[in-house]
Amino acid sequence: MPTDTLFAKIARREVPAQIVYQDEVVTAFHDINPVAPTHILIIPNKVIPTMNDATDDDAALLGRLMLTAQKIAKQVGIAEGGYRLVVNCNPDGGQSVYHLHVHLLGGRKMTWPPG
Ligand code: AMP
Repeated sequence: MPTDTLFAKIARREVPAQIVYQDEVVTAFHDINPVAPTHILIIPNKVIPTMNDATDDDAALLGRLMLTAQKIAKQVGIAEGGYRLVVNCNPDGGQSVYHLHVHLLGGRKMTWPPG
């Protein structure tokens, strides 16, 4: 497993990003290439490359990612209108950065199915 990633560098503030929330477990920051009016990424501070690499020991951490997304959605005012949480896994899932992250997307009506 890789021990370092672009997103780990963002969490350690070695690479600049618009961080909106951080604690000892998770970091949230604006996506550099937003595909919705609100597009925020929520990551574990520790490196988990893909959803495939998460284990039972990460159950609380995975919940923390989702609940952090929920809290940010409320803070930025998209909770009532609605939003989408996305985790892409590996090439067929559209993953490009191999550090597990939840996309928080909102501020416009989403379509289904995704491309
Ligand atoms: P995924 O394709 O699910 O792996 O998503 C990776 C996301 O990371 C994409 O939406 C990118 O726009 C975003 N991204 C890549 N580099 C950065 C960066 N330096 N700061 C913020 N977001 C980034």
